[in-house]
Amino acid sequence: MSSLLELPLETPAFVYDEQAILNRATLLRRAGERSGCRMLYSVKALPFLPLLQALTPVLDGFSVSSLFEARLAALAGDGALHLTTPGLKAVDMDEISQVCDTVAFNSLEQFQRLAGALSHGASPGLRVNPGLSFLADQRYDPCRPHSKLGVPLPDLERRLAEHPTFAQALRGLHVHNAFALRSFEPMTRTVERLETTLLHRLPNLEWINLGGGYLFQRDEDLDELCHISRRLTREYGLRVFFEPGKGLVGEAGYLVASIIDVFASEGKTIAVLDSSVNHNPEVFEYQRRPVPAWGEPESGEAVILAGCTCLAGDLFGEFRFPRRPALGDRIVFRDVGAYSLIKANRFNGHNLPTIYAWDGGLELRLLKQYSFGDYLGQWSAD
Ligand SMILES: *Cc1c(COP(=O)(O)O)cnc(C)c1O
Repeated sequence: MSSLLELPLETPAFVYDEQAILNRATLLRRAGERSGCRMLYSVKALPFLPLLQALTPVLDGFSVSSLFEARLAALAGDGALHLTTPGLKAVDMDEISQVCDTVAFNSLEQFQRLAGALSHGASPGLRVNPGLSFLADQRYDPCRPHSKLGVPLPDLERRLAEHPTFAQALRGLHVHNAFALRSFEPMTRTVERLETTLLHRLPNLEWINLGGGYLFQRDEDLDELCHISRRLTREYGLRVFFEPGKGLVGEAGYLVASIIDVFASEGKTIAVLDSSVNHNPEVFEYQRRPVPAWGEPESGEAVILAGCTCLAGDLFGEFRFPRRPALGDRIVFRDVGAYSLIKANRFNGHNLPTIYAWDGGLELRLLKQYSFGDYLGQWSAD
């Protein structure tokens, strides 16, 4: 990381360590080879085309949540493409049917209305809600009460029993009920729940997508996934998919900013950055403290790192430094590879971060620099 402070780059910058992402993808690939599980990257975490292109030779394909994501992923390569979203629209179905291999409908109503449109293209499946929560925060728990994501298992079982044509048309299941989990034990419990409820239905299906939401750093971390995948294939003949997003890119992303003003405010030091929470909106959305990359000392100078917009609450938080930071100093936050750049915006007319790919050492490639023209393009009429 330390070299990121010395490398010549324009701030604010979003830097992703391409090698670190490829290393994670290689873990997935090896697990896929061991188990037969197909490995997809959930592109919504960071849908940057050069990254998708770099992942294409390593992974089996991509998982997407919209027509735009599907088109982007299709541009990156011709691997497997999986789609699920509560936001499916009839007008998009033709193209989705052509570019996607599997579509998991989000509700029985959505299936009934739109599955016919897949007739000769993508394989129709259903996202199910296994009714198992593993997350304390309901805002990202797909199995929260009155969930909008997936069909509860008893509803699916009833529909299968009452409508033989539906049972024939249904080719796969999709389940995603995890976020940032380090143990795969919830996946085992989820699959066991599916088996208890739908046991005699599973052999009639072709595929099952086990979603994402899990983190992994070593080959061994994926052993349990491999075990589950091999068992599903052996027992029921299912093709198994896994589709992590954050697990691949989360730790590989850095937000680099410069200090552009330092002053005291009622006894506390404020350092203003040339970035803002709008470059990492989850800091504000979830009031999450971003992860400093400089190894905060126990004692030292406490400084409030503030964003450069007019919003009073545009603050990264209070951090400690070995010495009082000075104008021009660089600040690096780590673990921002997922769900930061994709949510970034140009509020107050401050530009988006410049994007660099980094090899983890001395090489940095500038891949994208936004200009006033991009801002103008967004905010002028056609
Ligand atoms: C967001 C999402 C993923 C990826 O989740 P991560 O937490 O980034 O691994 C996978 N599948 C579905 C259905 C999702 O909504």
